[in-house]
Amino acid sequence: SDSHFPVPIKPSHLSLSHHYPHFFPSSSPDQSDGQKRIEFADIGCGFGGLLVTLSTMYPDTLMMGMEIRDKVTEYVKERIKALRASLGSCHNVSVIRTNSMKYLPNYFDKGQLSKMFFLFPDPHFKEKNHRRRVISDSLLDEYAYVMKVGGMVYAVTDVEELGEWMSGCLERHCLFERVGDDEVEADPVTKVLESATEEGQKVIRNGGQTFRSVFRRVAA
Ligand code: SAM
Repeated sequence: SDSHFPVPIKPSHLSLSHHYPHFFPSSSPDQSDGQKRIEFADIGCGFGGLLVTLSTMYPDTLMMGMEIRDKVTEYVKERIKALRASLGSCHNVSVIRTNSMKYLPNYFDKGQLSKMFFLFPDPHFKEKNHRRRVISDSLLDEYAYVMKVGGMVYAVTDVEELGEWMSGCLERHCLFERVGDDEVEADPVTKVLESATEEGQKVIRNGGQTFRSVFRRVAA
């Protein structure tokens, strides 16, 4: 249950030196004004494939994976540790075991994130479980809060109904607008959304289809 993992009472209590020692070598410099901050969040990061890929595309950007399964989180931690030691990569990447649907504002301040990823989230097919979906009207209020104006949301699924649900929620929300096809195609990030993630690779192997929503956080 949630009680098994510690949650910072506010974002400044998240230790950046613990997560990114290469960037914060001294002890416990908390997130504060003027400091480098976490900018990308991979929600339900699974085995961390996206983070590993993005780490070399954006080596100076701090990114955090959020994953609720303990063993999966431990695997990602070990993966990052190994890549740091062997290739010297992934210093800008870390992972937290948490319930992102409950605690996001404990980790990120208002307007902090420039990219949020929701890749192949659990579909929760039954109608009574739709409230558990990681994108919903009310959770988008929270995501809008932690995102900076101009920030991007990427949501991908291989479940057509969930794809429609996620883009419907984003379309309805007054603080998000759909990004045009040309811009989506030109964005280097969209090229790796499927190929970098473990779930995406499965879909590619099976010749499946994916449904993608790319939206921008706009001003109120
Ligand atoms: N994004 C990865 C990928 O594309 O390979 C993983 C996709 S997997 C189907 C969905 C992941 O979301 C699972 O690893 C699951 O444990 C995680 N998850 C589900 N609910 C979550 C929550 N409330 N907070 C954090 N992670 C969650």
